[in-house]
Formats: sequence, C-alpha cells, structure tokens
Amino acid sequence: MANSDIRTHFAGRPVPVIFSDLDGTLLETHSYSFESSRLAIQSVLRRGIPLIFCSSKTRLEQEFIQRRLGFRAPFITENGGAIYIPQNFFEVEIDFPHRTASGYHIIELGVPYAEVRQAVVDIRNRLGLKLLGYGDLPLTEICMMTGLEPPAVGRAARREYSESLHPRFVTAEELNLVQQHLKEYGLRGTLRERFFIISGANTDKGRAVAILSEIFRKAYGRITTYGLGDGSNDIPLLSAVEHPILVQKPDKSWESMNIPGLLRMEGVGPIGWEAAIRKKLGI
Ligand SMILES: [Mg+2]
Repeated sequence: MANSDIRTHFAGRPVPVIFSDLDGTLLETHSYSFESSRLAIQSVLRRGIPLIFCSSKTRLEQEFIQRRLGFRAPFITENGGAIYIPQNFFEVEIDFPHRTASGYHIIELGVPYAEVRQAVVDIRNRLGLKLLGYGDLPLTEICMMTGLEPPAVGRAARREYSESLHPRFVTAEELNLVQQHLKEYGLRGTLRERFFIISGANTDKGRAVAILSEIFRKAYGRITTYGLGDGSNDIPLLSAVEHPILVQKPDKSWESMNIPGLLRMEGVGPIGWEAAIRKKLGI
C-alpha cells in the first residue's frame, strides 16, 4: 500500500506500527512455528498495518519468514545490528546514514561481523580457550547442536553483526573472563538459551526501534507503536514503544522487567501474541 493510501486508510487516526520479537514471541520457542499466531498475523497484514520483525535472527532468516507469510516490510536484524528497509517501502527520504544494496536501504548500527570475528579469534588466542562459533564449526556440527535442518542453519550462520558461540565448550568462569576482554573491543556477550552471542556493546533493539519509528512518523504522520517480546533482550524494544506487551515463556512465567505501562499477556509465545493483538487492536 502506498504511504498516502495508508494515511487515507486510517482516516486521520494514528497508524498502528507493530514491532515484534520472533523467537518465543511470534514463533514458538523450540519449533520456530508460527501456526498459533498465523491468523492474527494475517489480520494485521490484511489491514495494511506494518509488522516489523525485531529479532536476533539474521537477514536471511527474517527474509525467509516474510516470504512464507507473503509480505515485505522493514525489519531489524541481529538484536539491532541493522535496519533493512525495502527500497520502495517509504516514499520519503531516509534522514539517517545508510547504504543501499540488494534492494534495501540498510541502516547499520552494529559492529561488522569481520571485526567481531577478529576479536573472538584474538581473545581465544590470548586466553587459550575453546571459543567456537558459527565461523568455526562445520554446518553439520551446528545442525547436530541446534537440531535444525541444514538450510535453516545456513541462514542462521550468515551473520553480519554478531557471532554466536557455543557455550558448552567453556565454563561460566571462562565466559566471565571473555566478557571482560570483549569490553576492550567495544563488544559484549549475552548468554541466551543455546548460545553466547557477541555483538557491539551499544547495539540493542531499542535504538533500532526508535530510528525506524521516526521514519514511519515522517512517512505516515501520526503513528502508534506496539512492541511484543518475551525475553530480557526485548527490554530495550519494549521501552521504546508506546504499548509494550510481554508474552509468557514456555513455563508460563513472564520475564522479570520493570517497564511503565507493560501489559503482561496470558499465553505462551505466539498464543499470547495472538491474544494481545486481538485485545489491543480489536481485530
Ligand atoms: Mg524472544
């Protein structure tokens, strides 16, 4: 839909813009399935409401999910590493430094992968630790570790702003030590489920959400921002939107966080996502 059509469509009311985490929020934690949220996703897309993925997933992984759902929209990769905006999506100039490649305007906020890798290699050599990540392991081994099929691992391994290490090769104490060293490189590590993820120290989802919201505001006029997440890496995302929504983790608990106006939605992952969309947007 053209930007002006969107404005007409919402008849002067603010245009809702939905920023959503993927793993454990829009998608089920282990199967990565979106069957439980599919109907709500379709309702959102049918209404021309922008649905913006904001995830630790890579560009290829997010493009794959968009293709399966049959839509194109901007998305935020690798926990805020970059914002990808399909070239003709906005009819306004983008006032933030960006480059244009492969059909996208790309606003880069994170540290490029080559630099992250170099730091990992330096620290590994200095500390003599078995720090192994996507850049070191053969595809078959990553498949075994993650339980994912080779094409899915291939998409996950195409990292641009972060590296995933496999923490099972190192102890918690050693990871602490690594963490100390990462600071010297302007990087930080975050332990998340299966991985120890290394990215730029100032990279987070919130900054990316704020920038993209500003572009939406310029293109659409008034907007209302919604954010959905399930974990601690969503705190910056949820802090950057007007309507923050937290869905339940698989054990039915909510991640602990203190965000004004936070709606804690009943429902694990995509089930909570669907319920929240219906409740907040009345669709
Ligand atoms: Mg998540």
